[in-house]
Amino acid sequence: MQYISTRGTPPALNFEQAMLSGLARDGGLYVPQDIPQMAPGDIAALAGLSYEEVAFRVMRPFIGDAFTDAEFQDIITRAYAGFKHDARAPLVQLAEGHFLLELFHGPTLAFKDFAMQLIGQLFQASLKRSGERVTIVGATSGDTGSAAIEAFKGLDNVDVFILFPRGRVSEVQRRQMTTPTETNVHALAMTGDFDDCQARLKDMFNDFEFRDGVRLAGVNSINWARVLAQVVYYFTSAVSLGAPHRKVSFTVPTGNFGDIFAGYIARKMGLPIDQLVVATNQNDILHRCISSGEYRPDGVVPSISPSMDIQVSSNFERVLFDAYGRDGTAVSQVMEELKSGGFTVSQGALQYLQEQFTSGRVSEGETSETIKTMLERTGELLCPHSAVAVKIANDMRSTSTPMITLATAHPAKFPAAVEAATGVHPQLPPHMAGLFGRDERLTDIENDLGAIEALVKGRIGK
Ligand SMILES: *Cc1c(COP(=O)(O)O)cnc(C)c1O
Repeated sequence: MQYISTRGTPPALNFEQAMLSGLARDGGLYVPQDIPQMAPGDIAALAGLSYEEVAFRVMRPFIGDAFTDAEFQDIITRAYAGFKHDARAPLVQLAEGHFLLELFHGPTLAFKDFAMQLIGQLFQASLKRSGERVTIVGATSGDTGSAAIEAFKGLDNVDVFILFPRGRVSEVQRRQMTTPTETNVHALAMTGDFDDCQARLKDMFNDFEFRDGVRLAGVNSINWARVLAQVVYYFTSAVSLGAPHRKVSFTVPTGNFGDIFAGYIARKMGLPIDQLVVATNQNDILHRCISSGEYRPDGVVPSISPSMDIQVSSNFERVLFDAYGRDGTAVSQVMEELKSGGFTVSQGALQYLQEQFTSGRVSEGETSETIKTMLERTGELLCPHSAVAVKIANDMRSTSTPMITLATAHPAKFPAAVEAATGVHPQLPPHMAGLFGRDERLTDIENDLGAIEALVKGRIGK
């Protein structure tokens, strides 16, 4: 299995190389050259298997010979052992034909744990074998950072630096990043918004001297292995509702387009998915682009669903690559236009996007209202991101096809918004009690590439 850059420049890499490098050197993202297929019989055979067994069968063809079957099985087992629900990704019913896929039973209470716990184990296995050391730098709107720190803290051969936008993450998110005591993790509070953090991260990857000097690796969803891990729960949930004999639809709270892109890959592998619905908050660039073909960032407006406060959505490049007929030159061109304000997707590419996705946008008021009414009607307490998606799913779903809405975080990660909407203060699960009593350790840093690179160089390997 070979991975190629969305901007078209060789060389192709194998799974392990693509995982360790993150961003391609031409600035593109890695995608598989071919998508492995699962026949209806293969999908039907997933029924009744454990999450870990499904994970092995779905991901195995993408791994190539990077790991043996036994190694990969072991990696998967260790990745999900810390989850607090035997099903890992349980499905609960909200209404006739509407189901909620709870993806918040991992150690940091957001779906990011599914991928981050797996790549923590993949990195460790790979670095142990090679004896190499890497420096991981990540940008976060809150949940990626806490999941990465949880997955990589205390591991040998890795230093982890996380850039988060100062003052724009919830207190639970911040404390998850700043309270671990392991010395190989570093939480950096940067001035600016998430897009600024992600832009500095990309600058570090494009500074080859720095990149090679510190052996930079990335764990944002620009990393293909992140996307791959998320493909699994599309299969487990669809199969439990009758796939491949029955189609299902999915609505996904979307920011950086990683999670919904995993659903798109599941469909390309053969999973019969009817609608893939992109749900956005008031930062609705993806909804505008899918509706009109115009991709023009106009500044992030902070919302009560902060993990979706994004205007430059990295993984969208992966789907644009397909929409432009896998023409890396065309993708490079639109990404160049993005630097000077935005771009208009071609007619053909827009048609492709509209065949693959539907989309919607939810206001702040509608989000709060949905948290409140869903609690009244179902007893389910939603986090604001999940509520954005539930609202859009309720508007869009048909009676003939079951709708699965992804619940991406636990409500207790966003207690202020949930309490304001319902009057109920969501409780942290017992394993996280004590979070508010621990000392915090973080470094303030300006939105300045030189300063960030100097800090990273000064701290690694200590
Ligand atoms: C990261 C995140 C999202 C957005 O997921 P993307 O893959 O970036 O589109 C939505 N909800 C929560 C709670 C998140 O942490």
